[in-house]
Amino acid sequence: RIGFENVSVTYGSLTVLQSLTLTVNPGEIVALIGPSGSGKTTALRAVAGFVRPSSGRIMIGDRDVTNLAPYDRKIGMVVQNYALFPHMRVEENVAFGLRAHGASEAVVRARVPECLAMVGMGAYAKRYPRELSGGQQQRIAIARALANKPQVLLLDEPLSALDAQIRRSMLDELAKLHRDLPALTVLYVTHDQTEALTLANHIGIMRDGRLKAFGGAQSLFRNPPNRFAAEFLGRAN
Ligand code: ATP
Repeated sequence: RIGFENVSVTYGSLTVLQSLTLTVNPGEIVALIGPSGSGKTTALRAVAGFVRPSSGRIMIGDRDVTNLAPYDRKIGMVVQNYALFPHMRVEENVAFGLRAHGASEAVVRARVPECLAMVGMGAYAKRYPRELSGGQQQRIAIARALANKPQVLLLDEPLSALDAQIRRSMLDELAKLHRDLPALTVLYVTHDQTEALTLANHIGIMRDGRLKAFGGAQSLFRNPPNRFAAEFLGRAN
């Protein structure tokens, strides 16, 4: 589970998250949507440990991770622009995170092909990132994020740099990946409502650092709980 308990984040005098309370249950996908600047990425980065809350707690499973370094949180993360190391082959990119966490070479040798197979990229181990399409690079980034078998996967607009057709097939692949890894708990930031609706069990809508609406993906679209949610979802009369 991922738990935000009254989490606030401020930058100087600017409050970007205001007392956010939200739970992603084990094995669930929660999508955070909302206008630009509403605090979605900040929420994700707070779970990853790149942003320190000014108050509140972040839980992963039963652990209070609020004061843990990112490395100690056992999370995987994928960001919009994949951020693969350009000078490393695909297999080295995936191995990097494993070694950084102290995996033995035997574990690296076994785990890298497993991870690449998981995202259908087994044949690309020796390639460099520049020799891959955007969608393929993003698959490698996902394989790398999953290499350490994290309980929690954080996805920050993972498909938004891809063109529409590739985005659709990646969406199917993400859904399949989650079927293959049913215990994986996923927080997914997107401004694409189709992605949220296709993948997520629950959707949260943010505005100005606050969670304005939260509910089952289908029911939120059918019955937006307030005017902002309705307008944001394009359902206002
Ligand atoms: P987008 O959809 O555009 O990515 P978002 O909902 O993810 O937006 P955040 O990236 O969380 O929004 O940003 C929330 C607010 O915090 C914005 O007003 C942004 O300018 C501000 N902000 C984010 N990071 C910093 C920072 N390091 N220093 C100061 N302000 C920041």
